[in-house]
Amino acid sequence: MQRENHPAGPGRCQVDGSPQAAVGDWVWLNVADLQLLIDALRHDGRRVVGPQVADAAVVYRDLERAADLPRGWIDEQDGGHYRLRRDEAAGVFDHVVGPHSLKNFLFPARETIGRFLREDGTWRQLDDLPPEPPLAVIGVRACDLAGLAIQDRVFLGGESVDPGYRRRRESLFLVAVNCRRAAATCFCHSTGCGPAVSAGFDLALTERDGRFACEVGSERGAAVLATVSAATSLLACSHDEVSAARGQPAALEQAMHARQEEAGQPKPRSLNTEGIRDLLFDNLEHPRWEEVASRCLSCTNCTLVCPTCFCSSVGEVADLSGDAVERERHWASCFTLDHARMHGTSVRSSTASRYRQWLTHKLAGWIDQFGTSGCTGCGRCITWCPVGIDITEEVAAIRDTAGQKESPA
Ligand code: SF4
Ligand code: SF4
Repeated sequence: MQRENHPAGPGRCQVDGSPQAAVGDWVWLNVADLQLLIDALRHDGRRVVGPQVADAAVVYRDLERAADLPRGWIDEQDGGHYRLRRDEAAGVFDHVVGPHSLKNFLFPARETIGRFLREDGTWRQLDDLPPEPPLAVIGVRACDLAGLAIQDRVFLGGESVDPGYRRRRESLFLVAVNCRRAAATCFCHSTGCGPAVSAGFDLALTERDGRFACEVGSERGAAVLATVSAATSLLACSHDEVSAARGQPAALEQAMHARQEEAGQPKPRSLNTEGIRDLLFDNLEHPRWEEVASRCLSCTNCTLVCPTCFCSSVGEVADLSGDAVERERHWASCFTLDHARMHGTSVRSSTASRYRQWLTHKLAGWIDQFGTSGCTGCGRCITWCPVGIDITEEVAAIRDTAGQKESPA
């Protein structure tokens, strides 16, 4: 690997055959090097997934060829609106977040968590759940890393640790990407979750002028980069190039703060998080809950696309003989009647009570439960809500008229 003027000091900046890139180093990757990166990750036995165009959206799928990355695709997002369009000037990662997140892989929508066999009238639990290869995800954004940190608290914090999540999380390899553009639905700048990738990655890419400034974030990242550099010569980023790469998401963040509402343009969004826990808990009888319920379809989309929602149900599926049973966990949503069913009835029978539960739990109850808000500002719930209900708008409406109460019927 060739290095030049590296901020870590000239003593480590040598030509090929020198010590490999270390944590904190930056090197340049060309577009063609992305295939070497994928190959290096796969060579180590990992399953690699990355963003690809499928079903008219950019989604995470198994990735073998760098050519399948969504180069030249831009997404347009707004409340209840998602469209892809070609832009030949767009880079490899100029789309923003799609409906998938890391949740789809670490906490899959449907998962077998136990298998049981009846032999001679006695049930026995089998302990041979199918092994899963370690996972590498390419293209993860800052808000996704924030969502992962929140789910870590849910699944790994406290006394109850989820074994499947822990297994996948421990071997997870993350190639993050700094966003170069924000969708109208993004508000990570106001939740403190983006757009700059700052921690929690193995490698982080900043796309610049048709190549990628790659920051090494972990020893595992350095090891994978060493495999890449065995196949091609990698050039170290200069001090000025590192500064410029760091400045790119910082400039985007400034632009997001400066966004103004303009005629004919999608509405810019932000979430005022000041005192939000008390604001919501103090306004449980606010008339806005009924107003939003008049638009909400209780379709559950917002909870399915949210990278932090974690509710699940467990059921058992028997084979035709009745002697083999699989225990299956699948995503659940607080928007369904079943979610709050107790003693034969639902304690949240109205849409208003279910929307209030979702929003107050995510933005207020989580702070008590997990020491963090449950919202990263990714905007997915706004984009994928079929009627365009906007979490930032709902909070703002309550803040603007705090203290109002629904009149008793
Ligand atoms: S509540 Fe909405 S904006 Fe917040 S993390 Fe979930 S999907 Fe993203
Ligand atoms: S807020 Fe939107 S996405 Fe969520 S349940 Fe209601 S209609 Fe569906």
